Amino acid sequence: MVKKGRIVVLRLGHRPARDKRITTHVGLVARCFGADGLVLTVDDRTVIESMQDVCERWGGSFFVDVVSDWRSYMKGWKGVVVHLTMYGLPLDDTIDEIREAAGDVLLVVGAEKVPPDVYRLATYNVSVGSQPHSEVAAVALFLDRYFKGEELKRDFNGRTRVIPSKEGKKAVIG
Ligand code: SAM
Repeated sequence: MVKKGRIVVLRLGHRPARDKRITTHVGLVARCFGADGLVLTVDDRTVIESMQDVCERWGGSFFVDVVSDWRSYMKGWKGVVVHLTMYGLPLDDTIDEIREAAGDVLLVVGAEKVPPDVYRLATYNVSVGSQPHSEVAAVALFLDRYFKGEELKRDFNGRTRVIPSKEGKKAVIG
């Protein structure tokens, strides 16, 4: 699998009452599609605990962190900062350059409208199509293009594992 540095997803904004399922889905997709961790800007225990539970049962070394000052986090990032936004440059025109760039990748997604300086703090503003949709889909497609589909073949060495089968549900639960 293409892997030079870490990929961390930064979820900007999160309204606990409205966004906890979507933020959890951003985390689940990030983990499954090859990112190393999720950084939240709001300390929502529901999201953190549900991600920790998945990691504990399904394996891998995915981390979840919380930062209080996301601007400093973006500014201090060693590597490229990719902000996913429908207003950015097309994914297919930027992904090769991002993959070849030195250092780690910080992948930034919003919840509601992101503050305008995010566009400036990003090394790349990248669109996954120029239509509004979802941060979950944007993260999934970005990571899949980045890893060229190889991420889906990764072994998480989890206690719980699916045994792929043509019919029914087969799993080993350790
Ligand atoms: N109404 C918000 C705005 O005007 O910015 C958009 C909120 S959208 C549901 C949440 C996040 O999904 C965005 O901040 C962005 O990160 C991501 N997103 C939505 N559509 C996208 C697209 N076409 N390409 C890349 N990211 C997208």
